[in-house]
Amino acid sequence: MTFPPTSPLTSPPSFSLTEEQAAAGLAVARRTLELLRGVPEFDGRYDAFPGPSSLAELAALPPLAKDDLNTALAHLEPAAERGATWLFQSGGSTGAPKVGYAPTGFYMAKVFEHWRPLDRDDVFVNAWGAGRMWGAHFLAAGLADLSGCRVIALGSVTAEEYPEWLGFLADRRVTAIGGTPSVLRLWFAHARANGIELPSLRKVLWLGEAWQPQLEEDLAVVAPKARRHGMFGSTETWVVGSNSPDCPADTFHPFPHQLVHVGDGGLLDFTSLDPAMLNPVLRYRTGDAGELTSCPCGRPGPAMRVLGRRDNVVQIRGLGLHVDELLARVEREPGVSRAQVLVTEQGGRAKSVDVLVLGELPDDAAEALRRELLAGTFTLSTAFVHDPEHVRVRVVDALVSNERTGKTAGFAIREEA
Ligand SMILES: [Zn+2]
Repeated sequence: MTFPPTSPLTSPPSFSLTEEQAAAGLAVARRTLELLRGVPEFDGRYDAFPGPSSLAELAALPPLAKDDLNTALAHLEPAAERGATWLFQSGGSTGAPKVGYAPTGFYMAKVFEHWRPLDRDDVFVNAWGAGRMWGAHFLAAGLADLSGCRVIALGSVTAEEYPEWLGFLADRRVTAIGGTPSVLRLWFAHARANGIELPSLRKVLWLGEAWQPQLEEDLAVVAPKARRHGMFGSTETWVVGSNSPDCPADTFHPFPHQLVHVGDGGLLDFTSLDPAMLNPVLRYRTGDAGELTSCPCGRPGPAMRVLGRRDNVVQIRGLGLHVDELLARVEREPGVSRAQVLVTEQGGRAKSVDVLVLGELPDDAAEALRRELLAGTFTLSTAFVHDPEHVRVRVVDALVSNERTGKTAGFAIREEA
């Protein structure tokens, strides 16, 4: 590790800002540390640490996990300086909603200082779901407000409604749309299936999941002039960084009010340097692994490359199955647009593993793929050595999505009675 990076010849930086760039913002980190010290449940875990006055001191602080942040928020109950304090779903994909806080505006003014994908002439479709305490719809609305564009606040629609809405959007000559990649795929797949084109669409904003390369295939047909503009963030950190069509889809430029650190095991942690921040984000880990690197777009300064979630391992009969690796193989199969691992448990034990597939996959190709996955995946071949028929590849109409968060994860677990 180097603090700070001194020349391009040294190893990659472990912080997105230099000592000098971060110096003033560390006052916010010191204030956050004071708040965390006052949380009784943390039981003195911060006692030994001074308020950080350097990046090295910050890196020495214990990282925060999702549950920690919720414990702290339950105690702190922060309130916005002015305007409303909004409660949003934060973290965890199972169980009751956990809560993150944000003031009206959702910190997008700071984002807008550095990133302006929309302008006054845009007709922007906000397709992030609204309601259910989801934050993305509202932060996108905040960005649109700053951009002064026209907004169509669509939110989520049901499967039967797509063709009619797509016709409406084509008539309105929309120029921009934003949503999670899973939702955007539905929009463009329905447009393609119904022969609807959006020739005026130039910009596709996305946030909430990794970009899906299959989107490009549908876009090439439906909206050939559209290009992607991504944001990276979470309801805990809010928007950390963004990218442009010239950046790789997994690489984002962090904003100066967000300090990104690459810690042990390549895990990313985030520290807010924004004095208006309500969530106590101090070395907060989202579970994403990544690295700081230079971006091929040519923008100077370290960019954050997100390498996926380190926690995307599901336990099958006592063995860990690396879901991302398996899905990457399945999604390379011709005709497959997206896949998901569905584990069915009975009495707490994995009874079967289904690889659910969206797209076209003839029966013989599915069987060949199944055999290859069984043979090539240690966890599957070992765990199902006596009942390999319980590993299946199935073409389905829809993957299993989380009704609470609106996201479609790489794997789902179903308990069978
Ligand atoms: Zn870039």
